[in-house]
Amino acid sequence: MALADLSAAELADALATQRTAYDRIREQGLTLDLTRGKPSSEQLDLSEELMRLPQGHTAADGTDVRNYGGLAGLPELREIFAELLGVEPRQLVAGGNSSLTMMADTLKNLLLHGGVDSERPWLQEEKVTFVCPVPGYDRHFALLESLGIEMVTVPMNADGPDVEAVRRLVADDPSVKGMWLVPTYGNPTGITCSQEVAAELTAMPTAAPDFKILWDNAYALHHLTEDETKSADVLSLASAAGNPHRPVVFASTSKITFAGAGVAFLAGSPETVKWFTGHLGKSSIGPDKVNQLRHAQFFGDADGVRAHMAKHREIIKPKFDAVERILSDDLGDSGVARWTTPEGGYFVSLDVLPGTAGRVVELAKDAGVALTPAGASFPYGQDPDDTNIRLAPTLPPLAEVESAMAVVTTCVLLAAAEKLSAG
Ligand code: PMP
Repeated sequence: MALADLSAAELADALATQRTAYDRIREQGLTLDLTRGKPSSEQLDLSEELMRLPQGHTAADGTDVRNYGGLAGLPELREIFAELLGVEPRQLVAGGNSSLTMMADTLKNLLLHGGVDSERPWLQEEKVTFVCPVPGYDRHFALLESLGIEMVTVPMNADGPDVEAVRRLVADDPSVKGMWLVPTYGNPTGITCSQEVAAELTAMPTAAPDFKILWDNAYALHHLTEDETKSADVLSLASAAGNPHRPVVFASTSKITFAGAGVAFLAGSPETVKWFTGHLGKSSIGPDKVNQLRHAQFFGDADGVRAHMAKHREIIKPKFDAVERILSDDLGDSGVARWTTPEGGYFVSLDVLPGTAGRVVELAKDAGVALTPAGASFPYGQDPDDTNIRLAPTLPPLAEVESAMAVVTTCVLLAAAEKLSAG
């Protein structure tokens, strides 16, 4: 029965029951962690062969990968990922181990130098503003904040960002220079941006002539079902709409091979790629091609990556199923929680009774379960409704996910009963 429908006496009973359940959990002295979207060691083991590669040091074109050079990355690895990301190999750069670094470099270059379609460096503008679909990725917001870029939010709908809300923000204000988007299995919503929404975002009129969509496709290949959702073809859509330089695409193998020693990618119009590598060439004489060759040999081809991702799915799907099962069993009829059932990616987004997310995270912490801080999925760490909690079930073993989720649901019910009792 929904908590909100209980009489005062029933609510007092419910509060007492949840307090007792909570106190019992606290006595167990748990130390569990659902905070970050990291692969488990079992997942990392899938790529252990990388530790014994590459064989030899010569790339397909005869390049000695041990030496300097090849700023845009190893052609054979770019070919594999160009196919997977649906872009042309010449439009794809293979870089170092972090796509977040490539995003930061892109933003810093836009600020210092301006983009291929900018009138001037963004730093010379009075103000730079970004549109941020929420809930979103905390590190995107922290990066913008560190660079002095202001943030305005738009809601995420089931098919991507609320296009009408974005349109209103970008139409007349030239300070609005760009937006973030995690287009496939978004962090933390799991939402995938439809081809139609992507078409509107790439074609919409913007007051800024150099508006950018930072298309962070971190989870493009991270399917949790056999129905492998395809990412919208943002570069072709943008070209067709006459805005070829609007999207900058990012991806990496961080959640495919090793999170700390993978390969990151950037894609865009040929001009964007030239712009990016031109600036990169001032700070690097070439990427780690040994690691790139290692990855190319490990996968062989795009199907090798697909087969590898199916092995990840086998490991992590039961964890997502456990989260769904425990949320449904414990909170299904409580009327105080809603959550996503993602078909890919690394997260479940849980909305609790407004005004209680912070309390839930605090209660969980005191019971030994670390959750991502409430508000983390919003710019400046501020969730206006104090309702959203991001759950990341990939890292702990299945049994720990189950124990941690039982704590989470108890905390959700206790915080809701407290709030409702307080009136
Ligand atoms: N983008 C998103 C949406 C992410 O969730 C993550 C990892 N949590 C990253 C980027 C980080 O990518 P990388 O390891 O390539 O820097």
